[in-house]
Amino acid sequence: MVIKPRIRGFICTTAHPRGCAAHVNGQIEYIRSAGPIDAGVKNALVVGCSGGYGLASRIVAAAGCGADTLGVSLEKPPSSKRTATAGWYNNLAFEEAVDGYARTLDGDAFSDELKADAVEAIRNDMGKLDLLVYSLASPVRRHPRTGFLHRSALKPLGETLRMKSLNVDKGEVIEVALEPGTEDDIANTVAVMGGEDWEMWIDALAEADLLAPGFRTLAFTYLGSDLTWPIYWEGTLGKAKEDVDRAAAAITRRLAHLGGSARVASLKAVVTQASSAIPVVSLYMALLFRIMKERGLHEDCIRHIYRLYATQLATGATQRLDEAGRIRVDDVELSEPIQGEVKRRWGVVATENIAELGDLPGFREDFLKIFGFGLAGVDYEEDLDPALGRDVR
Ligand code: NAD
Repeated sequence: MVIKPRIRGFICTTAHPRGCAAHVNGQIEYIRSAGPIDAGVKNALVVGCSGGYGLASRIVAAAGCGADTLGVSLEKPPSSKRTATAGWYNNLAFEEAVDGYARTLDGDAFSDELKADAVEAIRNDMGKLDLLVYSLASPVRRHPRTGFLHRSALKPLGETLRMKSLNVDKGEVIEVALEPGTEDDIANTVAVMGGEDWEMWIDALAEADLLAPGFRTLAFTYLGSDLTWPIYWEGTLGKAKEDVDRAAAAITRRLAHLGGSARVASLKAVVTQASSAIPVVSLYMALLFRIMKERGLHEDCIRHIYRLYATQLATGATQRLDEAGRIRVDDVELSEPIQGEVKRRWGVVATENIAELGDLPGFREDFLKIFGFGLAGVDYEEDLDPALGRDVR
């Protein structure tokens, strides 16, 4: 089949196997050319490894630190009629391209079964872990103890929020009215995107005695600026991220006997499957990218995560921590000159001037790249088997 992007709102229902491979290989090449990082990471587990910040974290661990990696993700394989999801192709490309051990477990990271499979793989193939990067972003979680299916909500709290947003398809600046979340929405979002599952991973690995002395674990958060606070940090998602902060402290106590630590790292806004679903944030990102590119300060996923490892995780690095103990690599995005200009443009941005003020083409390009479209050197007219090299299941 000739594979073209099929976009439905903020999701693309097709993915290009060669394009995804080119995207992954480009990131690996970037890390190889950026130079090795001595971070004492020999064995790493990345939960949420198939896209966005998790994939970048796995690539830096393997190609930058020379680590063996186990990845966990929830992706769909191809059939004779449908392409796989992008992450499925990404995992395949990653496993083929890196040196050393690289295995991916596809399944529900929230389940006890998947955790048991990971424990077995680590015990049999890797030995003890030095690093666990927890980079899950999911709309739902079936709780392993209660069986309840929690659905997260992307909602403000308090009053109806009226704010500018972006219709990326049409290139229109619109006003959205977002109804506030309820106590149930908060509880469900905390259950899905909060820190409990991260703690469960650490418990499962610690009980199996698979954590090396000095073991470190990271989870990611987004603090953002006061422009995005009403929908993010002060909304249902912010409550979940507060719970991730709580979990970091609890896990650090649990790791004391190993001299280990758990940190939350606050990252920059980038276009991923998860972030493109958040209203308001799309318009913020279009303005932010334009300004950061104009000033030569823009970072994509892989460049940002390289900086995280090279400046914050490398042996001997002095970490930039905030008062809550989080690692801050969102410093450039949140710096006064950048935020001052984003706010000035936010006040005046409209459909008529988004082309001058924002970076809609850059946003769309990043979005398509997630699904393997728009990569240089890929023949998008090629008639391909979507299973490319793997049996159709
Ligand atoms: P993403 O959508 O690109 O990746 C999510 C990953 O989670 C994928 O690998 C997916 O397969 C996996 N996943 C989802 N449900 C799963 C399940 N049940 N079992 C196993 N795997 C599952 O997301 P992202 O934007 O890279 O987000 C990762 C983390 O980074 C999140 O904590 C997010 O809040 C944080 N973060 C993102 C941004 C941003 O701008 N994108 C900024 C700061 C922090």
